[in-house]
Amino acid sequence: MIVKIKKEDYDRIVAHAKEVAPEEACGLLGGVEYEEDGLQVREIKDLRILENSEHAEEHFTMTPQEQLKVIKEFRSEGLTLLGNWHSHPVSPSRPSEEDKRLSFDSKLTYMILSLMDEDQPRLRAFHVQDKKDVSVEALEFI
Ligand SMILES: [Zn+2]
Repeated sequence: MIVKIKKEDYDRIVAHAKEVAPEEACGLLGGVEYEEDGLQVREIKDLRILENSEHAEEHFTMTPQEQLKVIKEFRSEGLTLLGNWHSHPVSPSRPSEEDKRLSFDSKLTYMILSLMDEDQPRLRAFHVQDKKDVSVEALEFI
């Protein structure tokens, strides 16, 4: 699996995540899936910033209402929900125990942006199988 993300979207979430830190930032990934050279590709076409409705520093919550609204908008653009993203203001870019527990759909991509090193934000994409087995998905900036 290769996840493609626009550099401008990356810059946008880094700026937003820094702004709301120490709270976690979060959002949804809309895009398309296709095969390229025998590899499965997920290309993010519409990266959305949603509100962390609990304004928490160690987890994120997106309201079902806001998620549904955005997923409908993805559909109307011909896109599908590819996954979600959130920030880790002070911890590494890997799913926490809670992140694994909340990874309700093994088909989705879970992206985590770490701001632990202020000067070098780190974005990684993960696959979480059955809420426990984590593997890294390749990320490509376009
Ligand atoms: Zn997390």
